[in-house]
Amino acid sequence: MTQLTIDLNCLTHNYHVLRNQWSSQTKMIAVVKANAYGLGAVEIAKHLVKLGCDYLAVAYAQEGVELREAGIKTPIMVFYPLIENSALLIEHELEPALYSKAFIAAFLKQVKAKKLDHYPVHLKFNSGLNRIGLSEEELLEFIATLATLPFKLKSVYSHLAASENEQPCSFTQAQIEQFKQIKTKVENSSEDLPFFHLLNSSGSFNYPDAQFDAVRTGIGLYGFANRTDWDKELKPIASLATSIVQIHTIQKGESVGYNQGWIAPKKSTIAVLPIGHADGIQRAFGKENGGVWIRDQWAPIIGNVCMDLMMVDVSKIGCSLNDHAIVFSQEHPANELAEKAGTISYELFTGLGKRIKRLYVS
Ligand SMILES: *Cc1c(COP(=O)(O)O)cnc(C)c1O
Repeated sequence: MTQLTIDLNCLTHNYHVLRNQWSSQTKMIAVVKANAYGLGAVEIAKHLVKLGCDYLAVAYAQEGVELREAGIKTPIMVFYPLIENSALLIEHELEPALYSKAFIAAFLKQVKAKKLDHYPVHLKFNSGLNRIGLSEEELLEFIATLATLPFKLKSVYSHLAASENEQPCSFTQAQIEQFKQIKTKVENSSEDLPFFHLLNSSGSFNYPDAQFDAVRTGIGLYGFANRTDWDKELKPIASLATSIVQIHTIQKGESVGYNQGWIAPKKSTIAVLPIGHADGIQRAFGKENGGVWIRDQWAPIIGNVCMDLMMVDVSKIGCSLNDHAIVFSQEHPANELAEKAGTISYELFTGLGKRIKRLYVS
């Protein structure tokens, strides 16, 4: 059986490590987008709310609706709301990030149609990532008309493009400076002061002086700092394990898997595991790039990863049917496995399929 175990005690640990690193006034915006990075948005969000987290953030409106339908009342920021979901946002009291003139116009229309006032919104400033966000001109134009709009401006934020770079990094420093300037301009022209935020998890480790009023943290809560020294302080909250469903002995020269992806160099023992690329173990892990841990020994994935299964070489491991195979755990962190396929923990987690059973322990 394949199971993803999520240890909520580790989530508690990471929550406190992060919080203790920040100034005591800094708010936490816990990022639970993409089903909390594949780990289960509702369970994770409920636990974070219990711990006292100030704000939740998701990417898209439907993700916020899922949290509301689970009874979560904490403010929820939506980073990338789409115009067609404007009514849905309002219906579920979700707080959009206003990131383009087109979105602002469409959302404003909805808010006016519903005769609402002081609707909570956030402003996303593009300080150099060049992904989504308002230019300085657009942002200041909005601020200038704010008093006439049916909005309550809760926060102004931006996002670093290279927060994993350690100091000094002139590019990141320039983004920080730009954000400081925007902050001053907003403060000088707005009566009702919003809060300001710039950092994600890596940013909070590498640029703690740029905390402003809040930090948006996702991966840090799930146990990774993208930096070796800080990784040690955090605990990976998720472990993925499966178990051997069949063992074969094959002769030298026999092939394994689709397209004869692996040819046995000698008489070999191979184990079949019930997890494949449909579950998030990408084909890039095949051909011995990735592997699993069986009886504490490395068993490389041989040949091509199939949709539902994969084969590992266990010639050097005395193992039996039903033995556990660990894909990642606290001892064998997901970021180390991810690197073997040229990817990152984020992508490995968010790719974990629906078929994998999630178990929460606390
Ligand atoms: C996903 C996201 C975050 C969280 O980033 P982590 O690296 O997981 O801490 C923060 N801010 C924005 C705008 C995001 O999209």
